Amino acid sequence: MDHTKINLIVRLQHIDNMIESIMSMQKGLPEEISALEEDLAFTSRQIDARKKIADDHQKLRERLNGVIAESREKIRSFKEKQTLARNNKEYDALSKQIEYEEKEIAQAEIQLQDISQAVHHSQELQKKGRDLIAENRYDEISEEMMPDDVLQQQMQDLTEQVRQKKEELESIVIETAEEITTLREVLAEQRAVVAQEAKRLLDKYDHLKSGTMQNAVVKLHRQACSGCNTRVPTNRHTLIVQGGFYVCESCGRIVVHERLFEEAAVSGQQ
Ligand SMILES: [Zn+2]
Repeated sequence: MDHTKINLIVRLQHIDNMIESIMSMQKGLPEEISALEEDLAFTSRQIDARKKIADDHQKLRERLNGVIAESREKIRSFKEKQTLARNNKEYDALSKQIEYEEKEIAQAEIQLQDISQAVHHSQELQKKGRDLIAENRYDEISEEMMPDDVLQQQMQDLTEQVRQKKEELESIVIETAEEITTLREVLAEQRAVVAQEAKRLLDKYDHLKSGTMQNAVVKLHRQACSGCNTRVPTNRHTLIVQGGFYVCESCGRIVVHERLFEEAAVSGQQ
């Protein structure tokens, strides 16, 4: 049996493993950063939504206060005119106008009260939230209950955490960039060789790795496939020891003798 092909694929796995081990120095930082960024975006959306409500309230208040001031001014002027009224008809007409303006004022005041109540309601909710925080009952706090200052603090903390994690990741990336680049080049060269010499094995390798499986080629360890720990039949051991391979009947990985990995590592240093 020609064992050169299997050596080529082991070498490919060996290079992949080296890249993976360097990448693992990033310690899940990219995932952690994206999770933090999601939290940050969520917090920021909450803050923006509250700001919008406050702005809308403010604008409405200003408009309503304007309406009230205007109506009061009109009433004042109508009352002045009433003192000069020449007859009852004129006087009554002015009274009706005053009545109309008074209704306008009353309506505006009701709307102002509604705003005050809404503000009061949200303050009450935040007070409740603050109490729950003090009692560590975080899971009972609804979005509305989160106090404004806590939300702001949360946003600051998250921003700082994202900054730190990004810095950490960046320094790891910079430190390992050269090595990764070199290894990727070596990997590409090795792939080209395997594609030429052992196309079917490469297809199998790629197929195995297309899922979540990181390692398609694994060592025989304690007479079992080290990918899934399923025992390798005894009658296959000899072949493996001789430098051949066995396809694990449980996980489908290519099982080889560990010596092949040692050889692959040595050949890489030449
Ligand atoms: Zn297996």
